[in-house]
Amino acid sequence: SDTKVITVIGSGLIGRSWAMVFISGGYSVKIYDNQPGQSAKAITEIRKQVEELEEAHMLRGELPAAQQLALLSSYDDLAQALEGAYFVQECVFEQLEVKQSIFQNIEHVVGKDVILSSSTSCLVPSKVFSKVQNRSRCLVSHPVNPPYYVKLVELVPHPETAAAVMDTTHVLMTKVGQAPVLLRKEIDGFALNRVQAAIIAESWRLVQDGIISVKDIDLVMSEGLGMRYAFIGPMETMHLNAPEGLEDYMKRYGENLTRVLTSFGPVPDFTGEGSKSIIKEMCELIPSDQNHLSARKERRDRLLMCLAKQKKED
Ligand code: NAD
Repeated sequence: SDTKVITVIGSGLIGRSWAMVFISGGYSVKIYDNQPGQSAKAITEIRKQVEELEEAHMLRGELPAAQQLALLSSYDDLAQALEGAYFVQECVFEQLEVKQSIFQNIEHVVGKDVILSSSTSCLVPSKVFSKVQNRSRCLVSHPVNPPYYVKLVELVPHPETAAAVMDTTHVLMTKVGQAPVLLRKEIDGFALNRVQAAIIAESWRLVQDGIISVKDIDLVMSEGLGMRYAFIGPMETMHLNAPEGLEDYMKRYGENLTRVLTSFGPVPDFTGEGSKSIIKEMCELIPSDQNHLSARKERRDRLLMCLAKQKKED
């Protein structure tokens, strides 16, 4: 058949999400996990979710649930899982040695044109692929949790990655309805986590310095910045916030920006004594037991689903 095959390695949270995204685009997905029986369990879980999504009219892609689910298969054997694949998405534990050795194993089994893609959040491609011989077909495709509703994927090249590999992956991600962005070079934290780190650091400092409460700094994002950031980024925000666009914005507000940025403190204390009162304040709002956390996660995913719907209509 003409159906292209993608192998998903690791069937945890992210592996299952990738599988759902790829079948929604009509790709045949082979799931492998090194825990025997785990990939079969993953399919049961995906089936439940895909059927629920269809009922909620939130199923992605053109195919009905039954046809999407027919594209899935599970394997406890790596070589069998890789047979016929043109693209491999690795989603195993976030441990460098585990990823290095899995890619080393995969390379021996697949043809030299097969694209090897890692879901890693925190490891740069030059580390992840250091044991692969032909690194021109390697990249990181970093998703955001949950990928079914939050569609950004950061495509991050290894220094040796071929431009065609970046292009093919960009086409694939677009085709399955994700929103790929391209980093021209690898950098620690990629783009999303670097921007997130800046937000976390200043939020933490403001609470630690007694300027604002945990509850209120979260409202600064959810009721303020976040309202527009779901639709326009910081660059367009500035461009629209001065009568004549970005250059005008910088003429008016550039000095303010520089002054405020110069007043930012050093990297805050996230784990020592200084963190205790912040953690306590957070846990008074939402206790950190599984019941409370799951309820809030469910709320988050439900609201993200509504937002994803809204964005689709935009
Ligand atoms: P997880 O712990 O839910 O799942 C990992 C799965 O990999 C498990 O099923 C495990 O059995 C399997 N596994 C472990 N070693 C393996 C091996 N050698 N071969 C085959 N399977 C193996 O983890 P996750 O949250 O799905 O994360 C997977 C990757 O995705 C990580 O690199 C993580 O950094 C990245 N990621 C996670 C998130 C997130 O929010 N969870 C977001 C973006 C990226």
